[in-house]
Amino acid sequence: MDPHIDPNGAPVSIAVISDIHANLPALEAVLAHADAQGAERIVCLGDVVGYNASPAACVDLLRAREGLVCLLGNHDAMASGLDDLRGINPMAHKAMSWTREQLDDDRRAWLAGLPLRHDDGPAVYVHASLHGTREWEYVRSPEAAARCLDALDGAVCFVGHSHIPGAWVRDADGVRAVSDDAVSVDPSGKLLVNVGSVGQPRDGDRRACYVIYDQKAGTVVRHRVEYDAAAACSAIIAAGLPEALADRLR
Ligand code: ZN
Repeated sequence: MDPHIDPNGAPVSIAVISDIHANLPALEAVLAHADAQGAERIVCLGDVVGYNASPAACVDLLRAREGLVCLLGNHDAMASGLDDLRGINPMAHKAMSWTREQLDDDRRAWLAGLPLRHDDGPAVYVHASLHGTREWEYVRSPEAAARCLDALDGAVCFVGHSHIPGAWVRDADGVRAVSDDAVSVDPSGKLLVNVGSVGQPRDGDRRACYVIYDQKAGTVVRHRVEYDAAAACSAIIAAGLPEALADRLR
């Protein structure tokens, strides 16, 4: 039995976070925000590390959360040694080589042991997509969203990976994007939610991004959270990581 499922099967409120990328101030701010909203569980869609300056601290902070569900992301796979660094861009390569040095055997083993997907009632959680899950396919187009939704048995799938929040539904007319900050889960429908990125948003809003999935109400609400980006930038510079990684947070 999945130890993360509430033994009474009671619906709970779940903070779904993704792509923390070793940004400790952003992770702290999001966890505090989720706690204040009454979220009872954290599901992390992966990419705990990579790019920013606090990989070990982010791993430790997440691991300390009771009932945490955390999935494997592509950066976690590289940092833990599951995947090699071939094919990634020079900046990511430099950050990943540095990240590997910051993680001891215990933390690398924890990352390497993370699962690729989590199923919980009508919801499925993966890092990138249900289609080409281990190939880390990006959901950035209606076509990619359709491929993911085709592989969805349940009513809702949560993904991250692109760092761009969004949602798509499949209805009689096909797959269409939904622009609202809050969407409802139709038990007989198909919904795909990209939860955005905690530690390196790429949609022009520099605030940390995540969603709260309220199983009881059947709603998914997006939240943007202010955090100390200047501290995250200073840590990047102090670590000797590429300055462009700090520019990305500003
Ligand atoms: Zn990522």
